[in-house]
Amino acid sequence: MTILPILQLRSRLPPLRRPPPTGAGPVVCKRGGTSDCTVTNTYGSFPDRAVCRAADVTYPRTEQELVAAVAAAAAAGRRVKVVTRYSNSFPRIACPGGRDGTALGKVAREKQGVTLAMEPLFKRSVKFDDRDIAEKVAIWGSLHEFGDMVQLPGQGKVIYREDDRVDVSTPDDGLNDYLGFRLQPTLSMVGFRVIGGADEWLEENNGRFTDSARCVASRVVTATFELMAYGFTNDGAAFTGYPVVGYQHRVQASSSCLDVDDGGLLFSCPWDHRIRGVFAYNSGFSVTLSRAPAFVADVARLRDLVPAAFCQLDAKMGVLMRYVGASSAYLGKAEASPRAHADVFDEIEQMALRKYGGVPHWGKNRNSAFAGAVSRYPNAGAFLEVKGRYDPGGVFSSEWSDPVLGVRGSPVVLGDGCAMEGLCVCSDDSRCAPELGYYCRPGKVFKEASVCSLKDAAAAGVPANRTE
Ligand SMILES: Cc1cc2nc3c(=O)[nH]c(=O)nc-3n(C[C@H](O)[C@H](O)[C@H](O)COP(=O)(O)OP(=O)(O)OC[C@H]3O[C@@H](n4cnc5c(N)ncnc54)[C@H](O)[C@@H]3O)c2cc1C
Repeated sequence: MTILPILQLRSRLPPLRRPPPTGAGPVVCKRGGTSDCTVTNTYGSFPDRAVCRAADVTYPRTEQELVAAVAAAAAAGRRVKVVTRYSNSFPRIACPGGRDGTALGKVAREKQGVTLAMEPLFKRSVKFDDRDIAEKVAIWGSLHEFGDMVQLPGQGKVIYREDDRVDVSTPDDGLNDYLGFRLQPTLSMVGFRVIGGADEWLEENNGRFTDSARCVASRVVTATFELMAYGFTNDGAAFTGYPVVGYQHRVQASSSCLDVDDGGLLFSCPWDHRIRGVFAYNSGFSVTLSRAPAFVADVARLRDLVPAAFCQLDAKMGVLMRYVGASSAYLGKAEASPRAHADVFDEIEQMALRKYGGVPHWGKNRNSAFAGAVSRYPNAGAFLEVKGRYDPGGVFSSEWSDPVLGVRGSPVVLGDGCAMEGLCVCSDDSRCAPELGYYCRPGKVFKEASVCSLKDAAAAGVPANRTE
């Protein structure tokens, strides 16, 4: 078993705005045609902020058209990537790489030969419970089939999700429309960004005031989520109490965000790049279950040193910890952004990946998290061997996947300020932003970490905002 903490953090710099996704997806081509295109993701910005270009896009409607499109690209020695309507991956995973690449729009018009494993319909029974400490982190996943937990380190609280399979005859028709992943009034989200600190440089320098404001805000956010049962309802309309019992598909899928009419953008998903709403980088990694308690204890030590930083984390509903089983898949789990307190979050990330041997989620994270990651997969060699056999020309490889898989190059992008953007881990001050007061310093708990800290805080070894 492994545990998957997901840290949701926001970046200071505004995303490079890209044209909104059209009905066809995140591929936008010159003059509305199918050549000279750009490919975006749902945030409108990849972690390195570089534009992804593709020579053309093809929308195959049949299996024959699909095969012909891939064959034509392979014959021409071009790279190919499948791009979905949503393109929800944070890294450049769907970018074909190079100007010559081809994007394949996913238009499923014909039934494909897919083998599905079926199992009888079932319902789930869900309730949430608070405890004081994360003492159950190592066992919770084995006690409840769909159990997970949300750690709110700033409040010293863990919200345990008791989620178990029950018979379909159990009454109720509950629904999970998670508050954080549903359409919200666009204005409220823009307001959240402005009030919550669109300019985190100001936030960092506003010292105690913003820290205390953030701590108050975090309690309002978590209390609201609790009051609204996190978006769960017992019948699809109203919440009347726990447990919420509902069919698997209504409880597992976590929101209505992508499926409902946005009313001409009067409403939007929090991560929709067409509005100036919340902009996030999303750090997700897996840590072996046996090492999870020590990791949680280290995070608590860091919280005790820099409590204010963790209010910020709580305000994003903390660290979501999920349990995933061991997988036999070769890449399955065998077992420049001066955002306030970014050094603390970078330390947690480095701690998880380097001290606790965590592996990054392929669809999340910034470049630095992927450095050396493939070497932590025992079957990576077998994966590359199979990949080479099925795709000897590297048609489905890319400038992103080759470095990440250790085929050639490195996912790390070195340059002045690269550590502020998560493109590298700092090795000297130039990798941070000395002109803004950020210097490369060791971690506070995980001393082997190298993070960009605000000068005075770094010198005094105390939280940045406390030195004001
Ligand atoms: C708000 C938010 C929450 C998220 N929460 C979670 C979560 O809880 N759990 C989780 O695991 N992930 C989560 N993610 C990450 C995301 O779901 C994954 O990155 C997923 O891969 C995105 O799929 P996509 O088809 O939208 O992405 P894309 O970026 O379009 O595609 C992902 C990759 O798969 C390839 N691909 C896509 N379709 C096909 C196909 N038909 N055949 C072959 N290759 C294909 C693409 O070429 C690309 O390499 C979240 C993302 C966001 C934005």
